[in-house]
Amino acid sequence: MSEIPSKMKAWIYDEYGDVNVLRLDEGVSVPEIKEHQVLVKVVAAALNPVDFKRRLGWLKATDSPLPTVPGCDVAGIVVKVGSQVKNLKEGDEVYGDINEKGLDKPKQFGSLAEYTAVEEKLLAIKPNNLDFQLAAGIPLAIETANEGLERAEFSAGKSILVLGGAGGVGSWVIQLAKHVYGASRIAATSSTSKLELLKSLGADLAIDYTKENLKELPEKFDVVYDAIGLGETGPNAVKEGGAVVGISGPLSPPGFIFILTADGAVLTKLNPFLESGKIKPLNDPKGPFPFSKVADAFSYLETGRATGKVVIYPI
Ligand code: NDP
Repeated sequence: MSEIPSKMKAWIYDEYGDVNVLRLDEGVSVPEIKEHQVLVKVVAAALNPVDFKRRLGWLKATDSPLPTVPGCDVAGIVVKVGSQVKNLKEGDEVYGDINEKGLDKPKQFGSLAEYTAVEEKLLAIKPNNLDFQLAAGIPLAIETANEGLERAEFSAGKSILVLGGAGGVGSWVIQLAKHVYGASRIAATSSTSKLELLKSLGADLAIDYTKENLKELPEKFDVVYDAIGLGETGPNAVKEGGAVVGISGPLSPPGFIFILTADGAVLTKLNPFLESGKIKPLNDPKGPFPFSKVADAFSYLETGRATGKVVIYPI
């Protein structure tokens, strides 16, 4: 294993603002690890909307202090372990969302860097059939999809409507509902050009939100997963006694919004489904963006039109 340097390259911002506050700094200190953490040599990372919401200062009430190295999702190699680390060792190929609570004091030094420090419990061994750039896009989105399905008490034989089926989270909700939870019927929404993609992910019915009035759908569902924040749409489409789960407002009652609690054990549980190819990562075809193009990758994600995940590779 090559020696760990004291300084590294990282994307960083010193003040909140648009993509122009981001700069690539070659002299950022490599983070020190705490006893339950490992140091990961980052091979690939992925962007999530929380990264730009944070950079824009929307979450500053609960943010960690500036300057910030953004980035939650990581795939890489363990190069150092803390004294209390039990299951990981140097050389392990791992992936995970490095922030247990993305809105509550997320890490000041994130994954858009050559090295990042992560609690062991937030990581899992990378699926053996996936390379780093495919693994990097998975953690935050799949964990959010899974936690929402659990909170909505989704189970075999139930039907589901996914609002926003082509995004990072929605594309996993469709796949998990079908291949992990055993949905009886899946409907999902997107714009016109992504309808075929929804079907390939497992949707029985692909609904074009640019043509249909979602407030007047003829069918009702046991669960609605609103990955967009469409107010009354979910509650209008759910069966009596069903659940409407959301991850971003607005969402009308009885819908409820939750914030992900990241957990590497969820990735470990889902690894067999990934390794068998039953469920597959979906990376946006515009990527992967090389490390030098992180600002362009942010600009693209911020259009709100990404298909699956925006991945940064190689780092
Ligand atoms: P993405 O950036 O991956 O979503 C982009 C997708 O959204 C595009 O494919 C786009 O498809 C689709 N989209 C946009 N508007 C609509 C619409 N009106 N109807 C259907 N699809 C639409 O985002 P994520 O999936 O990563 O995250 C979604 C939201 O959830 C974000 O606000 C994010 O911050 C939040 N979030 C919250 C979490 C929590 O813990 N509460 C965790 C993770 C995410 P098209 O081009 O076809 O419109």
